[in-house]
Amino acid sequence: MAATDPGQLDPVSPRTANLAALLRALRAGPLSRTQLAARSGITKAAVSSLVTELCERGLVRSAGLQASGNGRPSQLVELNGASAYGLALSVEADRFAAVVTNLDGRVIAERAESADVAALGLHRSMDELAFLAGQALRDEQPVGVTVSVPGLVDSAAAVLRFAPTLRWRDAEIADLLAARLGLPVDAIAVDNEANLGAVGEAVAGVGRGVRELFYLSGGMSVGGGLVSGGAILRGARGFAGEVGHITVDPSGEQCQCGRVGCLETKAGLNAVLRVAASPGDPLHDPALGVDGRVGLLKHRVRRGDQRAVAAVSELGVALGIAVSTVVDVLDPDVVVLGGYFAELGEWLVEPVRRELSARPLGHEPACRVEPSPLGTTAPLRGAAHLAIERLFADPTLVPVLTEEAPA
Ligand SMILES: [Zn+2]
Repeated sequence: MAATDPGQLDPVSPRTANLAALLRALRAGPLSRTQLAARSGITKAAVSSLVTELCERGLVRSAGLQASGNGRPSQLVELNGASAYGLALSVEADRFAAVVTNLDGRVIAERAESADVAALGLHRSMDELAFLAGQALRDEQPVGVTVSVPGLVDSAAAVLRFAPTLRWRDAEIADLLAARLGLPVDAIAVDNEANLGAVGEAVAGVGRGVRELFYLSGGMSVGGGLVSGGAILRGARGFAGEVGHITVDPSGEQCQCGRVGCLETKAGLNAVLRVAASPGDPLHDPALGVDGRVGLLKHRVRRGDQRAVAAVSELGVALGIAVSTVVDVLDPDVVVLGGYFAELGEWLVEPVRRELSARPLGHEPACRVEPSPLGTTAPLRGAAHLAIERLFADPTLVPVLTEEAPA
């Protein structure tokens, strides 16, 4: 179908691509037209016309004068932060969250709500998520929405194919939210939380300036995402990075996927908590939420509780084996331990580094291993970045402002 529609093949005109190039250049701060021309390779005359259009769309504004040697001072332009908004949403096993950022990438509103998402089911969950989005947005109209979900995502179709922790299959998240938010369905993107965590780390965490980043996400399930040269590496069907089912113990426990000894049977949060405490212990109390239980586990490890120490030590060994396999295949610059692994980073980074340095290829210290500084917020940060990124790819999404009649 796309082959018969040239608009589908080339949706962005050369002029739009140039508008986008200038808008991106301004992300680093205010620039003069001469500086914009030098950075973009676009002629100064064309830059002037493009900047005028960006002003008419309200996306950039004058930022005063800059002295330039003995010559005339030059007029600076900068992004107009309040001209456009991106909305990031996340669905986790035990909560919903919403973040609104402006064109500068600044967070202007955050909302979160605890919920037993599996018990609510898909449609009521989408009601709750849309309600939370409405609270965060107030009057702002987002140019893009990116939704983070745990599970296998067909991002081209914006469909969550399978989320074992939520028990959702073929969930048409973008369609369901478009109807509830009153937005066009193509403004809504859906992605796996580990992919978005990798993006979050690449733009705002330990991955800044890094080319190849692997993000390992620890939660009830275990996932992974790779950012390579600024883009998510998705694989043929969009399921790349699913490291939770790498075999780390061939004589281990059966996994919910049907195989034996997967990383998830050793590193999924419930598996670790089962090693750390007997049934009935507060560590297993769902009312504490994921953060509460991980906090309690951390407290016990600090105190020297034998079972808690053993659980975290076993987790470190399993992660070391799995990360070594990933590094053998992908050769990243940095491996980021995200989700709840970040909270336990002080006990996990060393065993992973040890396993890497014991490998014949001697990955360590060439490949860094770092706990995520963004913690559980990394996927939302990545989603927020991609939501506003839609405008940086096509600035004409925001219409030219019409002059208001004087009151
Ligand atoms: Zn498995």
